[in-house]
Amino acid sequence: MTVYSHSRIESFFQCPLKFKFNYIEKPKIPLKEGIEAFMGSRVHETIEYLYKLVQNTKVPSEKELIEYYDKLWKENWNENVVVTRAGLEPKNYFDLGIKCIKNYYEKNHPFNQGLTIGIEKRILINLNDKYKLQGFIDRLVEKESGHYEIHDYKTYSNLPEQSKLDQDNQLALYAIGLEQEFNDIKSIDLVWHLVVFGKELRSSRTKEELNELKEKTIERIKEIESAKDFPAKPSALCNWCAFQCICPEFKHEIETEKLSSNKYLEEEGVVLANKFIELKNKETEIKKELNELREAVIIYAKAKGYSIIQGSDGKLIIRESKTVRLPKKNSKEYKKIEELLHKINAWNETSCLDQTKVKAFLAKKPNKQIEALLEKKFISVVKVGKK
Ligand code: SF4
Repeated sequence: MTVYSHSRIESFFQCPLKFKFNYIEKPKIPLKEGIEAFMGSRVHETIEYLYKLVQNTKVPSEKELIEYYDKLWKENWNENVVVTRAGLEPKNYFDLGIKCIKNYYEKNHPFNQGLTIGIEKRILINLNDKYKLQGFIDRLVEKESGHYEIHDYKTYSNLPEQSKLDQDNQLALYAIGLEQEFNDIKSIDLVWHLVVFGKELRSSRTKEELNELKEKTIERIKEIESAKDFPAKPSALCNWCAFQCICPEFKHEIETEKLSSNKYLEEEGVVLANKFIELKNKETEIKKELNELREAVIIYAKAKGYSIIQGSDGKLIIRESKTVRLPKKNSKEYKKIEELLHKINAWNETSCLDQTKVKAFLAKKPNKQIEALLEKKFISVVKVGKK
């Protein structure tokens, strides 16, 4: 049985291809790590260390903690850590980590808000007989008997909105696991420490919400297990993806950026791309010119009363035709059509107001009320004919 984790599930929905690389194919490539994640891990480990000392009745000084963080940074630093954001250097992230620790220290000293009963606590969530999920709670606190708090440290560079945390699945899934593990639960608070900002945000879930999440998670796992295709889904997160060098979205760029400028310009893909782009640009220019010319032909033909204009190698045939279109979305007429289609139970048949399908529907079942609401326009068409 595959034991899932919140990040494993999220990874599939972020980018199925990344999921495939990470959890199915596991290619043997040097895995790059974004410096943000590197710094986040060191801050986590430092706070973990802090609470281990506190559990043993020692409250370390802020200076001691920063020294510990510095030691961890040096011990773990390696060539696969990458800085993606332009204009920033490792030192900036190192300093940001110190700021996070200071913020946390100043806000929470002397670290006696509740009883810490678990640090990096492994939690197993039984979703049903078939699916299990595991996670690690950064810190589990018992405030009073039966009242628990799940604490999580985040080094996000943006402060999340409360509404986002109220929808967050990770800690809510841990809450499900906790309810299964402890039998004295009266309440569970979800607590995020946004250490970059020195802020603490909270949320909680009702029993119904946790049940819904459980069902939703089972459905998401089923979707993952039935997946046949794992397409690339590029997003801003690609900047931090460890699989860029084997991802079809980035492979060519990475393989060719090492080439000298001469070799680069001769590379087959670069040649094809350049030629294609050149022709595509020409096509755009030609289309623009052709449109202007079409307008001129129509104006000239109308002014002279011609419907055919002779050229040396062919002729232009000018015809007027009537087009029928759906009115603009959100217009009064559009809403009325929507209402009428619902009334005659044709909404699904017209694929929620797809223009072609509406026209096909009207061709089969004419409806005067709907037809009267459609936009009718006469347009002139210019065709080329033989002389
Ligand atoms: S680089 Fe982007 S598109 Fe490619 S696998 Fe990674 S996340 Fe997906």
